[in-house]
Amino acid sequence: MDIRIGNGYDVHALAEGLPLWLGGVKIDSPTGCIAHSDGDVAIHALCDALLGALALGDIGKHFPDTSEEFKGIDSKLLLKRTMDLVKSEGWSVSNVDITIAMQRPKLAPYIIPMRECVADVMGIGADRVSVKATTTEKLGFVGRGEGCEVYAVALLVK
Ligand code: MG
Repeated sequence: MDIRIGNGYDVHALAEGLPLWLGGVKIDSPTGCIAHSDGDVAIHALCDALLGALALGDIGKHFPDTSEEFKGIDSKLLLKRTMDLVKSEGWSVSNVDITIAMQRPKLAPYIIPMRECVADVMGIGADRVSVKATTTEKLGFVGRGEGCEVYAVALLVK
């Protein structure tokens, strides 16, 4: 058996009045991510982890934010296309683990819906998808509510 690990990281700035999407789920929040796509920073970090595991570059290479094709795009479609790449190379996902750093709102009620949504898009069991949320104790840009930061890792097997 061959195994590969990848990590991904993404940050988006937050602004008042924009929709907030995380892990494919709409979050009830007064602020949302400024982005070319729908700004789902959790899915972006996850895509980078999957691409990173296979040394296939990054999300910006595959889905450039200068392209009209990806303007306002549902990030679930980007994840689906990333999974198509993973599968086309003969790999399957053992598990992924996502950590979202955001000061507010509280994300606890959304953890299970995010896990289920991401798992559904990836075509794997929700037991293979971990989503965790943390604040940064009001420190830094996350703590000031200026942005949302996400770390993700993915383990692939063949
Ligand atoms: Mg992004």
